Amino acid sequence: MAYLSKMYCRTYQSIVRLGVRFINWTPPEIISGVGSIKKLPGMMVDKGMKHPLIVTDKGLMGLHLLDSLFEGLKARGIAYTVYDGVQPNPTIDNIEQARKLYAGEHCDSFIAFGGGSPMDCAKAAAARITRPGKSVPQMKGLLKVRKKLPPFIAVPTTAGTGSETTIVAVVSNPETHEKYAVSDPVLRPKYAVLDPELTFALPPHITSTTGMDALTHAVEAYIGRSNTKETEEYALKAVKLIFDSIYTTYSDGNNAGARENMLLASHYAGIAFTRANVGYVHAIAHSLGGMYGVPHGLANAVILAPVLEYYGASAYKRLARLAECAELGGGSDRDKALAFIKAVKELNSRMGIPAVIDIIKKSDIPVIAKRVIKEGNPFYPVPKIMSLSECETILENLSV
Ligand code: NAD
Repeated sequence: MAYLSKMYCRTYQSIVRLGVRFINWTPPEIISGVGSIKKLPGMMVDKGMKHPLIVTDKGLMGLHLLDSLFEGLKARGIAYTVYDGVQPNPTIDNIEQARKLYAGEHCDSFIAFGGGSPMDCAKAAAARITRPGKSVPQMKGLLKVRKKLPPFIAVPTTAGTGSETTIVAVVSNPETHEKYAVSDPVLRPKYAVLDPELTFALPPHITSTTGMDALTHAVEAYIGRSNTKETEEYALKAVKLIFDSIYTTYSDGNNAGARENMLLASHYAGIAFTRANVGYVHAIAHSLGGMYGVPHGLANAVILAPVLEYYGASAYKRLARLAECAELGGGSDRDKALAFIKAVKELNSRMGIPAVIDIIKKSDIPVIAKRVIKEGNPFYPVPKIMSLSECETILENLSV
């Protein structure tokens, strides 16, 4: 890649690194442990929340996963309204429907209950409530909301996105086939409930792919150039927990200890990447999500190893530390880094995750690659800056 373009990317990243020091990085207040969802209504009474909009999806309603929350709210005399229309990869329509319901029913707070899709839909709807004059596309990018949201509680039911602690809402526009992030510290939830019991019903294929999403967050945060001591520690803790527990949650979904580890890992990885940022794995996953609706976790799981291979020697040192943390054997940094990439591939294969994304059409590759490079450069503080043609080659290999 041209020297000047690289210089531009690295200079931009250095400026952002300085700027984010002035952001308030206070994490959400956490209620955690098996059965902790039952404590939420009491906390809401203490905080003066009287009528939340609960944003969720029909799958979770069908599983009756929210029943204990509904009972607890009724018992405490808290009125609530439910929006359950969120689709995977939430759309602008979903967000507008939730916003209208919130306003029409005179709600005073949000409970985002579900995976990343309901959590992000609720975040974006809350941003629209606080900024009624700005459309969702106008909030695309960094620091476009800049106004406090209504009280916001996140209850993750997948162990993957970490959205309950991130400053990001990822939004899809089905008309343009784009998927993009709205990023602003005000989107970081004020409260989060980490109840592993809510993840017991996750089917194995969602357990595995969302778990690999969390691993991708931790890896991309750790190998990038915008780490702090704190984000490094959280990323390492997440990697260790994921290597210890992901396969157990895949093969034995009711294992409370492993489920708890994965929920914590996803949360820690979220703390790490929301400050240290992600990399090209995410840029590619977002483009494939927007273009073909490929689930985010699945896309990340498949793309992680090829992108780490592309980084080559520029990431060996950091990947070697991750390999040590996951106890993957000895040797030089290169040996350890390659062992880490091999372990990612083996995890995928043991959990039935494919090595390619066969839905990618060759004719779409130039458009996808352009979007990837536009998302990644100059924003992501990756170990090695990718060019358009290098990205096209990765996509060609993924589509085989
Ligand atoms: P999801 O929320 O789209 O859910 C996927 C499916 O899993 C749905 O059908 C849902 O009903 C089901 N499901 C969820 N919890 C379940 C449970 N406990 N039991 C049974 N089924 C359950 O999936 P996700 O991977 O959590 O979220 C993906 C979205 O999050 C994408 O749009 C992605 O871009 C975004 N994301 C956001 C951030 C962020 O920081 N905001 C980070 C990463 C990803």
